[in-house]
Amino acid sequence: MGKDYYNILGVSKSASQDEIKKAFRKKAHEYHPDKASGDEAKFKEVNEAYQVIGDSKKRSQYDQYGSSFEDMQRNGGFGGFGGFSGGQGGVHVDMDDLGDLFGGLGDMFGFGGGSTRTSTRSRKANDVRVAIEIDFLEAVKGVEKELKFKKKIKCEHCNGNMAEPGSKISNCNKCNGTGRVTKIQRTILGNMQMQATCDDCNGEGKTYEQKCSKCHGDGVVEDLFKLKVKIPAGIDDGETIRIREKGEAGVGGAKDGDLFLLIRVRPDKRWVRQDYDILTDYSLKFSQAALGDKVKIETVDGEVSLKIPAGTQAGTRFKLRGKGINNLHGGPKGDHYVKVKVEVPKSLNRKQKKILEDLGL
Ligand SMILES: [Zn+2]
Ligand SMILES: [Zn+2]
Repeated sequence: MGKDYYNILGVSKSASQDEIKKAFRKKAHEYHPDKASGDEAKFKEVNEAYQVIGDSKKRSQYDQYGSSFEDMQRNGGFGGFGGFSGGQGGVHVDMDDLGDLFGGLGDMFGFGGGSTRTSTRSRKANDVRVAIEIDFLEAVKGVEKELKFKKKIKCEHCNGNMAEPGSKISNCNKCNGTGRVTKIQRTILGNMQMQATCDDCNGEGKTYEQKCSKCHGDGVVEDLFKLKVKIPAGIDDGETIRIREKGEAGVGGAKDGDLFLLIRVRPDKRWVRQDYDILTDYSLKFSQAALGDKVKIETVDGEVSLKIPAGTQAGTRFKLRGKGINNLHGGPKGDHYVKVKVEVPKSLNRKQKKILEDLGL
């Protein structure tokens, strides 16, 4: 029984936190029990909605998991979700945020329509977390990788039905085949009637004469799973990619969990990355700095010619515009900065010394 908190507050799913706050204030005024127009039930409902979507962290969890009380119980409340990015100290890249950057990948990442099972959104199998190490240039340019990992996949023997094929299936007596039972839960907002998963049939709504012999009635088996993933150009070390419904297989009408892919990037001696920019050093001979020159710089896009003007000082930074890294979040491409050093000769022969002295430099 997922409640639509956006609907309760009368805002769209894309509303800003500010708009949500304003909508909450207006509704709370309207329904306040002390007022003639008051409505205590609605006031509580509005409050409950604001407790969740008024908080950006809880809101994103709500967007992901829905408001199901079962989920809240099973996971120890919204606060208990924790989230992968928090635990790993990395930045979370949600493929949904990246939108059309990856045309054609829609289905794979679960935002291109496909099967939406809204009626069962309240139940979801476990997420799976996998890490992958890629090269510096692979992160800069994007790469396709095949992941291999173990996870619970749907049992082929029973097709996830949990029953031995051919065995007699009947409706669960406790829940009459609905998989749900009604319970009363005491909350800070008063007693609330809520739906819980039937524990006789684990929400399946059915009982079997004989459990599946391969999965022992789990509906899933642990097995090696392969998945091709396109890693977008511009991803950075420590970022995670969320791939919807590629986690553990859901049974009994539950949604599949999500896959969280943690990206580790191997450093490259040639370049240092800073956000979407590339930083390098370049050593000039004293004569090149003094007289000017043209030098070749190795960028992530290949070799580029850089003009060194006469009289260049040590520490000068040159910018190679657009020679940095693709910005994953839609901003402009980064730049490549070259910081020059000027080499002072360490040993000079007598003739060189004489010339320098004569020059007075
Ligand atoms: Zn049942
Ligand atoms: Zn099975």
